Amino acid sequence: MTWREAFHQSPLARRLIFWTVLFSSCVTLVLTGLQLYRDYRHDVSQIEQNFAQIEAVHLATLTNSLWATDKERLQLQLDGMLQLQDMHYLEIREGDLIWARAGNNVSRNVIRREIPLHYWHNGREQVLGTLVAVATLDHVYGRLLGEALIILLSNGVKTFLVAVFMLFLIYYQVTRHLLAISRFVHQLSLVEAQPPLTLDRAPREDELRTTVMALNHMHARLKELAGASAQLRELLTNMAGGFVRLDRDWRYVFVNKRAGKLFGRTPEELLGKNIWEEFPQGVGQPFYLAYRKAMTDQQPSQIQSYFPPWDKWFENRIYPASDGLSIFFDDITERKQAEVEREKLLNELSVRNVEMEAFIYTISHDLKSPLITIGGFSTLLEKDIARGDRESTADSLGEIKKAVELMQTHIEDLLLLSRTGRVTAEQTDVPLAALLEEVIGQFGRRIAGENAQLVIAPDLPTIRVDRKGFVRVYTNLIDNALKYRCPDIAPRIEIGWRREGDELRLFVRDNGQGIKKEYLQRIFGLFQRADSSTEGTGVGLAISKRVIEVHGGRMWVESEPGKGSTFWIGLPDSVIVSEDSAAESAQNN
Ligand code: ADP
Repeated sequence: MTWREAFHQSPLARRLIFWTVLFSSCVTLVLTGLQLYRDYRHDVSQIEQNFAQIEAVHLATLTNSLWATDKERLQLQLDGMLQLQDMHYLEIREGDLIWARAGNNVSRNVIRREIPLHYWHNGREQVLGTLVAVATLDHVYGRLLGEALIILLSNGVKTFLVAVFMLFLIYYQVTRHLLAISRFVHQLSLVEAQPPLTLDRAPREDELRTTVMALNHMHARLKELAGASAQLRELLTNMAGGFVRLDRDWRYVFVNKRAGKLFGRTPEELLGKNIWEEFPQGVGQPFYLAYRKAMTDQQPSQIQSYFPPWDKWFENRIYPASDGLSIFFDDITERKQAEVEREKLLNELSVRNVEMEAFIYTISHDLKSPLITIGGFSTLLEKDIARGDRESTADSLGEIKKAVELMQTHIEDLLLLSRTGRVTAEQTDVPLAALLEEVIGQFGRRIAGENAQLVIAPDLPTIRVDRKGFVRVYTNLIDNALKYRCPDIAPRIEIGWRREGDELRLFVRDNGQGIKKEYLQRIFGLFQRADSSTEGTGVGLAISKRVIEVHGGRMWVESEPGKGSTFWIGLPDSVIVSEDSAAESAQNN
């Protein structure tokens, strides 16, 4: 280390020394001033003593010489007195007459005394003249100046030496370590391995050591933080949802992979660009609208928005910060669809629950009545057997059998209902003409017995449906048409179809008793019946409706009391395989 180095590298030391020198110089000046003042007072008092000595020692002889008008002696005496220190001029005068004088009379820097010369003669005091004594201060000032010069010079040299020493001391003790610390901080790396900061000196407990420890601790913490933020970055980059970070000027400062994918851009293409200008087409608009809304509402928060032209759902979570915005977003269309689906299922479930409750209530009631019948006739049967009454035994057995059959029907309905609508049954190509042939076959004798007339359209289509379900539906409709006939008119049942827009409509029309307006909807509900005079469970139409709905269709009735009823089945026309099943089945035969 050279003097120059220490001087140039330590502006702080320079400033410290400057102020110290300034202060010490001021103190020296004040103290020197005090010292000189004291010396001045001492010299002046010395002159005063000389005057006093003149009065005490010389005054009497001077007066005598003057009385004797001995000029020569007076001159000798004055010359002798002039030898006193700092004495500059002496004269004896009587009025304007000067008897004797010694030295030079000057008026600058002097102390002047006029002492009257009294003489006692014949008991009377008489003033003979005046002694004028003038002492000069020039010597005093000269002495003081010399003294001041020596004090100031010695102090100046001392201060200079101390200043140089301080400069080296501060540089050696502090400055070079501060420079090492700042070098360390400049070269601080949060990625590369770096030895901790140490200072080139013997270990000492002081402020520097505390600073070094604090810096090393900070370095370690910063490295930890850097590691955590790298992890966070990695996580954000690869997370499943989209994430972008914007600065205060709406520029992308971070775009993760998913966001790039949703935008149809690479993250690099977006970085640094303004979000309002660089809103990629397609999904851009949805984001633009969502962010606009968030901004105008001043609620950054969670927003779900639906964008009809793209048929997409987006979820945006926006978090504002002082230096920008964090936006998490994702295409949640699939989740939304699943939610809608779930909602639909839940609704269906609750409808089915209500139905199930009604069903359990009714079925327990309906199942009980054949059981009571069986119980009653069993007791009777016991007695019949005991009595050996064969005819009565046969009657009772007949009743029991009928009750068992009723229960069987109930239980079958129950099973059927539990299956319908739950599983999508296997669908096959069903020529309706052939299907109806089979169904009508079941009613064979009953149709003849009732004298019923059946009119079936010749051009029924072939449709792709659950065959068993449709057998059930037509069986139910034809059965009802026969059951709810007008007593005095022969039943006429007409079966046909037509197309209405994109809907295939199948119908079964009768000339029966008809249905009152208030029952038109209700009869499709479970166990709902408009007529209790005939036997029935009120399950048939509920099952039929369910079967049709499973096919994506609907079922309704048009009817007026006394004017017959038309039951309609509407199906999407996509079920039509061919429009003329009769021709097809004829061909097949
Ligand atoms: P069920 O015939 O066992 O009573 P359905 O569910 O088949 O059960 O019918 C429900 C009700 O709808 C019947 O009880 C009846 O009141 C009414 N209904 C059904 N079909 C007809 C029809 N063709 N004419 C008049 N009423 C009918």
